[in-house]
Amino acid sequence: MLCLHDTAENLEETKSARHTIADYADMAIRTAERRAYLTGEGQKRQEWGISLVIVNKRGGHPCPQCAKWCGKILIDDVYSGGKPDGKHQLLSEAMQQGFLHPRCKDGVTTYFPGVTSVPDPVSREELQEAAQDEAEENREAYARRQAEKYDRMAKYSLDPENKRKYAARAEEWRESAGEANITVAKPVDSGIIATEKTGEVADVTDFCELDRQKIAEEFPALPNSRVVLTDERIKHIKDNHPEDLVFFEKYGVLTITDPEYILLDAKNPMTVMYVRSVESTNLNVIVRLALADDMKNGKSHSVMTSYCLGAKTLKRLKKKNKTLYIRE
Ligand SMILES: [Zn+2]
Repeated sequence: MLCLHDTAENLEETKSARHTIADYADMAIRTAERRAYLTGEGQKRQEWGISLVIVNKRGGHPCPQCAKWCGKILIDDVYSGGKPDGKHQLLSEAMQQGFLHPRCKDGVTTYFPGVTSVPDPVSREELQEAAQDEAEENREAYARRQAEKYDRMAKYSLDPENKRKYAARAEEWRESAGEANITVAKPVDSGIIATEKTGEVADVTDFCELDRQKIAEEFPALPNSRVVLTDERIKHIKDNHPEDLVFFEKYGVLTITDPEYILLDAKNPMTVMYVRSVESTNLNVIVRLALADDMKNGKSHSVMTSYCLGAKTLKRLKKKNKTLYIRE
């Protein structure tokens, strides 16, 4: 039986990173484009009798691994036939050390002595931001690839149940990539409600207490502050975005008890998002609130899902959803 998620993908790269063919082709084209550009520029420099190039600081951040060359003047011995001058590093040497690696976003331009201004070297903060940016971009790219994979699997699955399952996963990954409007699991997917339907007892754990004061303006009548977590929801996080589970396990409680932001989920009733920056990312814990009537039926405030958000995604999220609380 042909396994859909293994078709036409997974070229193994040296760092054992997994990339699809489309992704790989994209990298190859970009690399070729850059080479063509550098070759053209190099020829011009040769005609002009110049071989110095400068590594410019881009508007955004440099690749963390290339930051050390930012603002440096190099001798282009690769494309302009420059000769060592005992003063500047050779481009070939920098490239050997990893500069202009595949997917590198940095580049060089011709350096005209006395004309070209030399930018300041990259500061420690800029480097830190660059590393965060890159981690976020990588995470988003991975999430996008996963979404595409599950889209494919949904499309080619014959079993309707699998189709639905894969489509849901694709949607989750798109959320994680910041490409979808944030949606949480439908009530029918939640363990608590499923219990009502099947009459079985879901495994519910007391997770933590939320501070009702923080959301009292929007929800003045919450009867208690107990937040629960079902095994089914843990399984959901584990199945759909396992890399986020580590953060959730470590910081889930803290994010609810001491959030930086609480947002009102614009798409789901009675649902709020607790957000807190943790390590190099932001954790979003989504909680569905229960009113007194719900509680009579045995429901509680409950964690629906949780995943990490990059800075850009968080910004988008804040734009789309009303802020209920900001930590002073
Ligand atoms: Zn680079």
